[in-house]
Amino acid sequence: MAEMNIPVPNFDNNLGNWLCLDFTHTLQDRYNSDRNELLHSYSDLLAWGLHMGILKKDEAQQLLRIAEQHPQVASTLVNNAVSLREAIHRIFYTIAEDSTPPQDDMDVLNTLLARAMSHACIVPEGDRFSWEWSAHSDTEKLERINWLVVRSAADLLTSDKLHSVRACAAEDCRWLFLDISKNHSRRWCDMETCGNQAKARRHYSRKKSVSI
Ligand SMILES: [Zn+2]
Repeated sequence: MAEMNIPVPNFDNNLGNWLCLDFTHTLQDRYNSDRNELLHSYSDLLAWGLHMGILKKDEAQQLLRIAEQHPQVASTLVNNAVSLREAIHRIFYTIAEDSTPPQDDMDVLNTLLARAMSHACIVPEGDRFSWEWSAHSDTEKLERINWLVVRSAADLLTSDKLHSVRACAAEDCRWLFLDISKNHSRRWCDMETCGNQAKARRHYSRKKSVSI
């Protein structure tokens, strides 16, 4: 069967260190007026799955074909993915700020988690077992990415790594990541961007104070 083209939006590098945190970056510049939504269609969701390595190319091609046959279902699932993403963002952002996540967002997460877990199963993989998802129809297959994301959020919320979730220290960024640095000292989403800007700002203000 002919390969179908999946256009790839300009996703950020996977520096969040946890799937559901990287998912929150599909809305770029969320605190600026020119915020950039990267998830407009089911194909964008598939492109993100490929970008993160949670889908294989042939799976993505198969899902794209199913989505084209069921455009209404596919579009509902994109809306669900965006609501889930926003709930995940608010939950982990409030946790990073040492506050309590909003109950409404926990409800969104728990509703989708219940749906996902009703499709979760364990299958043999080599000499051990791994999580899989059982789908009883083509349209259920389309939910796979949403299920992976919601389970990733549940895993992080119940993990002892939860308190290593941080928001980038740059006020206009606040991008979420899991700090896995040895001494728990990572402050920036990316040293190349926010880290360097902060260094440049510090350098500039020092220079200014010297010249006065
Ligand atoms: Zn940043």
